[in-house]
Amino acid sequence: MRLSRYFLPILREAPKEAEIVSHRLMLRAAMIRQEAAGIYAWLPLGLRVLNKISDIVREEQNRAGAIECLMPTIQLADLWRESGRYDAYGAEMLRIKDRHEREMLYGPTNEEMITEIFRAGVRSYKDLPKNLYHIQWKFRDERRPRFGVMRSREFLMKDAYSFDLDAAGARVSYNRMVVAYLRTFARLGMKAIPMRADTGPIGGDLSHEFIILAKTGESAVFCHKDFLDFEAPPADVDFDDAGGLQAIVDKWTSLYAATEEMHDEAAFAAIPADKRLTARGIEVGHIFYFGTKYSEPMKAVVAGPDGATVPVHMGSYGIGPSRVAAAIIEASHDEGGIIWPEAVAPFRVGLVNLKPGDAACDAACEDLYAKLEAAGVDVLYDDTDERPGSKFATMDLIGLPWRLVVGPKGLVNGQVELKRRAGGAAESLTPEAALNAVL
Ligand code: ATP
Ligand code: MG
Ligand code: MG
Ligand code: MG
Repeated sequence: MRLSRYFLPILREAPKEAEIVSHRLMLRAAMIRQEAAGIYAWLPLGLRVLNKISDIVREEQNRAGAIECLMPTIQLADLWRESGRYDAYGAEMLRIKDRHEREMLYGPTNEEMITEIFRAGVRSYKDLPKNLYHIQWKFRDERRPRFGVMRSREFLMKDAYSFDLDAAGARVSYNRMVVAYLRTFARLGMKAIPMRADTGPIGGDLSHEFIILAKTGESAVFCHKDFLDFEAPPADVDFDDAGGLQAIVDKWTSLYAATEEMHDEAAFAAIPADKRLTARGIEVGHIFYFGTKYSEPMKAVVAGPDGATVPVHMGSYGIGPSRVAAAIIEASHDEGGIIWPEAVAPFRVGLVNLKPGDAACDAACEDLYAKLEAAGVDVLYDDTDERPGSKFATMDLIGLPWRLVVGPKGLVNGQVELKRRAGGAAESLTPEAALNAVL
């Protein structure tokens, strides 16, 4: 992509309304733009990041055996009356009427709809287990939308729903998602810790929030420091090996970790003092086993092995890719701007032409640009006639992993300059060597 043809209306000044660094940087880097309170447009640079995050989420859901579908954003109120949640959900639900005065809503979540889809298509225990997911916009009329896309009213969510014959099967489905989440967050370059979460009126112990530590997190969290050294499960983990999955989950739930709602001061005090970590956390994912809460009232039943009809056991599993984009920035930035982890960077390389119009600079840049594109590397080529200082500031702000600078002085000696955004000195080397380093 040539910057001269791109849409990157960056802001030099930090917008006053933005309280936290990710919000400031996302606005300044022209990733997002607010269109109404808590409602954001994703500009081209932001959309690239959002799509990369969603792709990683999708790959790991698929690896774990979940199946993608796409449900609508608008739902019928009557569907939610079946579960009893239409009245219970409260003011966070955006309720609307169509021209026929039919009551509808903009989905804040999809348990009811997926239960309706499942019950229409599955009759026998032989078709179980199943896990269906989608990545779709949600709307929740948050009391206090703030922090940009961290707590917005319209946001993207991956929500998966599992269906099993019984509680034991549901536990295996739950464990699959724990492992998928551990892999997902590791690939996104984040340290997410599963913390026991409140299961509400249903009870049981099967709910975890995935929390990343950040100074600007909304809740206080308490955990064992060793979590920070745990390795995520490998790519070849066997999702059909129930025992192996349980062992991974046991390890990741063996140490103390809780948000303030679930905090147990006595249990925390039992950890050696040098291993106690008190911090702030951001909820980036939440998984939940809720048994027959929806299948019973909505009659999502299957014939069991003995022929008797039973309601299926369900779980739901959410990740917010739009919140994740902000959370990554909270964890990875400096005074100059964003520092993208490779996996989600909008472009891998920023190619900077210091003197457009100079025949040697133009030729060297065009050659590098063509070779990078041909190798499938996402490259943003700054071919504008901005001053060098402003070009460097833009590259620092948008945080691409590599900066490749071509200028007239270096070219005299056949050299270009390569620098990693994450740190380290700029290196002078030949264009070929620079290409090899970033490929
Ligand atoms: P919170 O406690 O932050 O209000 P929640 O517990 O209501 O979140 P869930 O219903 O568990 O959220 O939704 C699953 C995921 O969706 C969350 O873990 C988060 O990543 C994302 N999410 C929820 N609400 C928002 C929001 N207002 N803006 C952006 N992402 C959100
Ligand atoms: Mg909420
Ligand atoms: Mg929550
Ligand atoms: Mg939650």
